[in-house]
Amino acid sequence: MTEGLITMAYLVSGLFFILSLGGLSKQETARKGNIYGILGMALAILATFASGEVENFKLLIPLMLGGAVIGAVLAKRVEMTSMPELVAILHSFVGLAAVLVGVVSFIDPSDIELTGTNKLIHEIEILLGVFIGGVTFTGSVVAFGKLRGSLSGKPMLLPGRHLLNLGMLGASIWLGAQFIDQGHDQALISLLIVMGISFVLGVHLIVAIGGADMPVVVSMLNSYSGWAAAAAGFMLKNDLLIITGALVGSSGAILSYIMCKAMNRSLANVIFGGFGTAGGSAATASEIKGSITETTADEVAEELKEAKEVMIVPGYGMAVAQAQHVVKDITETLRGQDVNVRFAIHPVAGRLPGHMNVLLAEANVPYDIVFEMDEINEDLPEVDVLLVVGANDIVNPSALEDSSSPIAGMPVIEAWNAKSVVALKRSMAAGYSGVENPLYFKDNTNMLFGDAKDTLSAVFSKLG
Ligand code: NDP
Repeated sequence: MTEGLITMAYLVSGLFFILSLGGLSKQETARKGNIYGILGMALAILATFASGEVENFKLLIPLMLGGAVIGAVLAKRVEMTSMPELVAILHSFVGLAAVLVGVVSFIDPSDIELTGTNKLIHEIEILLGVFIGGVTFTGSVVAFGKLRGSLSGKPMLLPGRHLLNLGMLGASIWLGAQFIDQGHDQALISLLIVMGISFVLGVHLIVAIGGADMPVVVSMLNSYSGWAAAAAGFMLKNDLLIITGALVGSSGAILSYIMCKAMNRSLANVIFGGFGTAGGSAATASEIKGSITETTADEVAEELKEAKEVMIVPGYGMAVAQAQHVVKDITETLRGQDVNVRFAIHPVAGRLPGHMNVLLAEANVPYDIVFEMDEINEDLPEVDVLLVVGANDIVNPSALEDSSSPIAGMPVIEAWNAKSVVALKRSMAAGYSGVENPLYFKDNTNMLFGDAKDTLSAVFSKLG
C-alpha cells in the first residue's frame, strides 16, 4: 500500500472515530456509534498491517487473537454495575502500553540517529508518554481495586500528601532535564527513575480519593490514557494514534468537567478533597424539623391510577434494587391506561454517567419518554404523581435553598414542585453526599419504605 493510501485510510478511520463519538452522545444513536467505532478500528488495523512497518506477524496475530477472545468473553460477562472497573482496568493497559512504547522507542538504536531539535522533541515525547502513561497505569489499577472492593474505598490521606505529590512532580521535571542532557546509558537510567516515580505518583494520587468518587476519577484517567496514547502516537510518528489519543483525551476531560459541574464540585475538589468515602461522605447535615408521612403500595397504586401525568426519577437505589424491569412494567401498564409517563434523568444519577439511561434501555423503556433534567424541570408543576425511585441527592431542595449545605449550588431535579411525590427508599439514610433531604419532610411527599424492587412489585400487582 502506498503512503498516500495509508494516510487516506487513517484519515477515514479518524472520521469514523469522530462519528462514533457523535453517535455515542445519544441513546438512540449509541448502537450506530459503536458500529462506526468498530469500522474505524478495523480499517486502522488493516491499514497498519498493509503499511509495511509491521513485520512480526507470527507473534502479532496470535497475540491479537488471544486478546480479542479474552476481551470478547470479559465484555459479554460483565455486569452493568461492574462496568466502571472494566473501564478502569482497560485504561491501565493504555497507560502501560504508552510506558512500554516510550522506553522501547528510547532503547531502539534507530532513534539515536536523530539530532538537534528533532532529537529534543522526540525525547520530550518519550518523557511525557512515560510519565503520563505511568500515572495512568498504576492509578487505573488502584481505581480498579477500589471499585472491585479488593482495596478499601476509604481515602488514604498521608500527612503532607500535597507536598509529596509536588515533590514527585518536581523530581520528575528535574530528572527529565537530566535525561535530555545525558548520554544514552545515563539517560536511560533517568528515564527509568521517572517511570518509577510516575508509578508511585499514580498510586498515591488515587488512594487518596474515596470509592464513591471513583467514576469521576475513572473518567479523568480515561482522559490521561488518551493523552498517553497521543504521546505514543508522536513517538511512533503515527498520525491516527495522535488523533485517536486526542479524541479520547479531550472527551474524557469534557466528561470529567460535566460530571463535576453536575455535582457542583471542582475537579481539584474531587482529586484533592478526599470527599467521597465508600458508603457516604464526611459531610454533615443540618437537622431538619418536621415529620414524614408514610404510605403503602396500595395507596400509591390508587394514586397512579387516578393520575394523568406521572414522572419517574430514578437514582442509585434503582440500580441497587435492580428495579428497572418492574419500573418498565408499571410504565407500560400506565401508558396502556392513557397516563403520560415520563422519566427525568439527572446527569450524575447513580454512580456513573449514563447509569440510569443504560438500565432503562436494558429494560426496554422507550427512549422518547426519557428526558434530561434541563428539559423537564419546568414541566414538574403539571405532574400529578412523581415517583422518586432510590434517588436522594439529585432531588434534594437544600442544594437550592440552603447555601451552607455541602451540595449548595448543585443543579437538581425540582421534584417538590410536582403535585404529589412518592419517595421510595429503605430507610431515612442520607444519600452519597451524606446530607439529609428536606424533600421527605414536605407536605406533598409520602415515603414508601422498602427495597424498591419489592415495593414497586407490590404497586404493580395492584395496578392491573
Ligand atoms: P444517592 O446516593 O444520593 O441516593 C441513593 C438512595 O437510594 C439512598 O438514599 C438510598 O436510601 C436509596 N437506596 C439504596 N438502595 C436502595 C434499594 N435497594 N431500594 C430502594 N432505595 C435504595 O443517589 P442519587 O442517584 O440520588 O445521586 C447520585 C449521587 O452520587 C450524587 O450525589 C452524585 O454527585 C454522586 N456521584 C455520581 C456519579 C455519577 O457519575 N453518576 C459519580 C460520583 C458520585 P436507603 O439507604 O434509605 O435505601
